[in-house]
Amino acid sequence: MVSYVDFDLCAQIYEAILDIPIEPSIQHLVKKYLNTTQQKLREPEAVNTMYQKQCTIWIIPPAPAFIPGDFKFDVEQLLYPRVCVWVPHHLPFKKKQDSLICPTADCDGKLGSEGFTDQYTYRKIIGPADHFYILTHTYKCSKNEKHIFGGCNEKIVNQLHELSQRGYDIHHMASNYGISKTLQHVASVYKRNGMSDAAVIAAVKSLHSEKIKRLHKQYTLALNKS
Ligand SMILES: [Zn+2]
Repeated sequence: MVSYVDFDLCAQIYEAILDIPIEPSIQHLVKKYLNTTQQKLREPEAVNTMYQKQCTIWIIPPAPAFIPGDFKFDVEQLLYPRVCVWVPHHLPFKKKQDSLICPTADCDGKLGSEGFTDQYTYRKIIGPADHFYILTHTYKCSKNEKHIFGGCNEKIVNQLHELSQRGYDIHHMASNYGISKTLQHVASVYKRNGMSDAAVIAAVKSLHSEKIKRLHKQYTLALNKS
């Protein structure tokens, strides 16, 4: 059984990870990549095609292990983050449900997709040892246009088939904090084993710092190879 940790600890972990310094040039590169990816996904049928042909909700960057070979890809791609493309109306629903329903209490309007909008654009989600970005659609209710939701809303996620729900690794603590369910599970295990909040934060921060250092080292090595 997965248990979760409290909001304060999640918020502190999130802030601690954001504090890890990343070179501005790399930040710029990641931002550019995320924008380009979003543009590509806005093309008609792009998400549907990705889901149906590749059977994944993930866009994964190439692995550094291939750098020493003759594989041709831009080394900058090593720095790209994982992107989770979460578009629930294209995923299988629970039995007997044929569309997403408005999560507002006492409303049974159907939700229609507004596509990728600025209101629910990328969110950074912190995992146990690295982070990823999630990109989702905005949904509007057919009965009340003020009922607008992001596809990551738990009440929307809960309308999906159980197998689809299990692919969703995010537990929203609040609008500003995205901590993966896996990290919350890890943090709760740390806590049960007697670690203080400060020690949990330090452990997660250390894992993230190491990952970033390793990635930057691989990037430098790859640049020098060519
Ligand atoms: Zn509604």
